[in-house]
Amino acid sequence: MLPFLRTDLVELAAYKPHLGIGVPTPISPESIESDKLDTNESPYDLPAELKEKLAWSYKELIETNRYPDGGHSLLKQAISEYVNESANISSNIVVNNNISLGNGSDELIRSILIATCLGGNGSVLVAQPTFSMYGILAQALGIPVITVPRNCENFEMDLEAASIAIDTTQEQPVRTVFVVHPNSPTGNSLTAAELTWLRNLPSDILVVIDEAYFEFSQRSLASELSQHPNWVILRTFSKGFRLAAMRVGYSIGHPEIIAILEKVRLPYNLPSFSIAAALIAIQNRSLLLDSVSQTLSERSKLIENLSQYPQLKISDSDANFIFLRLKREFDNQTNSALKNLHQKLKKSGTLVRETCGGLRITVGSPSENARTLNRFETAVKNI
Ligand SMILES: *Cc1c(COP(=O)(O)O)cnc(C)c1O
Repeated sequence: MLPFLRTDLVELAAYKPHLGIGVPTPISPESIESDKLDTNESPYDLPAELKEKLAWSYKELIETNRYPDGGHSLLKQAISEYVNESANISSNIVVNNNISLGNGSDELIRSILIATCLGGNGSVLVAQPTFSMYGILAQALGIPVITVPRNCENFEMDLEAASIAIDTTQEQPVRTVFVVHPNSPTGNSLTAAELTWLRNLPSDILVVIDEAYFEFSQRSLASELSQHPNWVILRTFSKGFRLAAMRVGYSIGHPEIIAILEKVRLPYNLPSFSIAAALIAIQNRSLLLDSVSQTLSERSKLIENLSQYPQLKISDSDANFIFLRLKREFDNQTNSALKNLHQKLKKSGTLVRETCGGLRITVGSPSENARTLNRFETAVKNI
């Protein structure tokens, strides 16, 4: 290894991104249909009329020789209106200085880690299983990650273990707690007990509530932000808003946290094209979010159909994906039957995510979901 590189990064398992459009998926050559149901994107591209608007913006408004708007003020204003409206906040509590934008919420997660834990200032706490990027980004910055388990049935965090971890971690105390509402990969929203626990955390700990799936769950803690200066909410345009390609996420929080996030981000973190796309998406939100109800009814159909298999245990979901495991009598400690099921689905052309002893399956378009069900029928036999 080159001697100037950090040795801990050699061991770091990075996030495995998709290969992208035009790059063939490495599945069996005989399969033609390949349904990407492993990253929780929306199955629906932008409607043609919004693509037209974006093309117009690109042609008429964007000068490619100029740097983008580094202050994001128009987009922040549009987002604050959406947040106030969606959280039923009657007076305009959320304003521009409560919002910072990131190149995807991934960038915001990293900025939060830099702002709170970097340089030996603290560690982060997560309950596994959860979104992998918190751990990956923390490790890349040399920040310790403390993990606690979840209840195996309802996936509630082990709050006792979490409290003990907070009380006993001394050298680098827990500085930031990450939760997803609803959680990925398990699909469950925060429970009353979890919410009470979060509300009572000491004010020297930052609580990050990742609402990446808000458009599907309609559950938000935004209306409580003003009572909790130690809370930050993360949202993204990558899921319900159908703009994963554009890489736009936002954080909502106390102006002092937001000011630091603004300081540590790159000055031109969002390309002009992404800013234009997010603006068009939020201005046309009723049209775009129309697809959410279809996703929810497709989710019910998937759950209902898969529930007929005696081998499967399917969890409730408040998001645009479902999580299922094999019942204990159909699998063993090493999850070999689950891995087998995953491989069979992949070979037949349905890509899902195998994680934490289960499969996470994105709710796709009606035809993708129909194929998922057909392929399950074959794959589940003789696992
Ligand atoms: C998809 C997802 C995100 C979104 O990340 P972007 O970088 O905005 O695309 C963030 N958090 C969770 C939990 C997610 O599942």
